[in-house]
Amino acid sequence: MTVQDLTEGVARFQRDVFPAKAELFAHLATHHTPHTLFISCSDARVVPELITGTEPGDLFVIRTAGNLVPAYTPGADGVAASIEYAVAVLAVRDVVVCGHSGCGAMTALAQRQDLSAAPAVADWLRLADASVARTAADGDVPALVRQNVLAQLANLATHPSVARALAEGGTALHGWVYDIPTGRVEHLTPAA
Ligand SMILES: [Zn+2]
Repeated sequence: MTVQDLTEGVARFQRDVFPAKAELFAHLATHHTPHTLFISCSDARVVPELITGTEPGDLFVIRTAGNLVPAYTPGADGVAASIEYAVAVLAVRDVVVCGHSGCGAMTALAQRQDLSAAPAVADWLRLADASVARTAADGDVPALVRQNVLAQLANLATHPSVARALAEGGTALHGWVYDIPTGRVEHLTPAA
């Protein structure tokens, strides 16, 4: 796959896909009303619109390594700004945090891999320290993936926009885990 393939993909999109959805794109030109904030890992194998069968305009997407959502702290923060925009301005009804099988970030943590060659990754993944501490069996990647999703739901609730929406009943939080080899999605139940 090269950038030339991407250019050809754009040509195919304009020729085959766009005309078939011309009405939708005309509407989207002046409307941005996604119903869901979807937070997933940056992993190339997780494709939110594909696995949820959604159309352009449906999902407001934030992707980070390990689908980590830092707990709220005042100050400029791209993840926090995107959350606030989706929840407070676009008024999404649902927020999904979607982890996935075979996550490189969670594997690195569960297996205590040496990340000294990737210091920014190492620093970012420190945000999952509590999840690592809670996952009893060392090396259990699936357990850490689940625990990590639940921890991000808790972190989300520390963001003022999310806290307000939750208090007013305007939004609901959901934890998912996507299984790459089967295409299944497991729904997690957050602790009350
Ligand atoms: Zn991942």
